Amino acid sequence: MKFRDVIGHQVLKQHLIESTLNGRVSHAQLFLGPLGNGGLALALAYAQFVNCTNQQGNDSCGQCAACLKAAKMIHPDIHYTYPTVGAKAKSTDFAAAWRKAILENPYLNGFEWLQQIEAENRQGNMTAEECESIIHKLSFKPFEGKYKVLIIWLPEYLSKEGNRLLKLIEEPPASTLFILVAHRAEKILTTIRSRTQLLNVPRYPDEVIQETVETRFGWSADKAKQVAILAEGNYNRALAIVNGQQQVDIALFIRWMHSLLGQQIPQNVLLNEEIATIGREAQKNFLKYTLYFLRQSLNKSLFPDKVLGLTSQELALATQLAEGLGIEQYEKMASLLEDAIYHVERNANPKILFLHLSVQLMEVRAYVRSR
Ligand SMILES: [Zn+2]
Repeated sequence: MKFRDVIGHQVLKQHLIESTLNGRVSHAQLFLGPLGNGGLALALAYAQFVNCTNQQGNDSCGQCAACLKAAKMIHPDIHYTYPTVGAKAKSTDFAAAWRKAILENPYLNGFEWLQQIEAENRQGNMTAEECESIIHKLSFKPFEGKYKVLIIWLPEYLSKEGNRLLKLIEEPPASTLFILVAHRAEKILTTIRSRTQLLNVPRYPDEVIQETVETRFGWSADKAKQVAILAEGNYNRALAIVNGQQQVDIALFIRWMHSLLGQQIPQNVLLNEEIATIGREAQKNFLKYTLYFLRQSLNKSLFPDKVLGLTSQELALATQLAEGLGIEQYEKMASLLEDAIYHVERNANPKILFLHLSVQLMEVRAYVRSR
């Protein structure tokens, strides 16, 4: 893929492009950052760029033979190592599934990948055989490209077998580039980690996710913003929301909020029962959205002129909520919501949980009114 196809990360892209054009490619780099940060997508674009025979100042050309092969993940000098299952498995045993999965979604996470190769309950790993295969593959000069590239996706899965690679990473053959793409530094063998140059690939800002959802999927600004809030910087999660329709039911949210603000206990009880049926993931999103709404409402009371990311219906509710509420009450409500998210994740009974939460939220409001 080209750099322009990777969302966000303009500064990092420019750094990778310029260092390549200036002939300063570090031979072992670690792209590190949280899940859904686009680290693998960046690595794919980088591998294509270094081997492009018609590099542009700001991207690979996308047209040359090298680019076309890289884009299909069949360039003979670009290799991939990723977690697999089976005692003596090698990555190439899963090459077809790998290409399919990554061409479909380069923001995929390790759990989803292992599910695709039907790992079920088996742990993914990178075997001694895979390490030997890497040593073998990298012992040749590049066939066609300028660089022989090995992308190691999730080196967290390299157990002590990975130490077989130390010498290779430390003193690689000429024109060899290792790109390690990881999410958890502490899970990588220190011997390997210490031999790489770190490149931090941070979480995506909400604006980048919102803009991407708007432009790539044609979603309205309001809905795209909601996706960005729920995705929390993880673009893979945003894709799951877009594809799986894991949106928050705003109509339900508004009715629930009205029942709280109006202290309408019977309606609130019915709504809690309805929420109890929507599934855990949706309940979590519902609570996260309430938390976001609460913060926007606080913003509204602190900075009345500030433009908010809320629809007019929500804005009216936010204004009502903000009435007479101090920062202390906001904090109390926010911590109640965070507790509720924690308990949803731990399989609490949703009917009881939402009832309990509603009562406590009403109490915070009632306290304000009684003063
Ligand atoms: Zn090219």
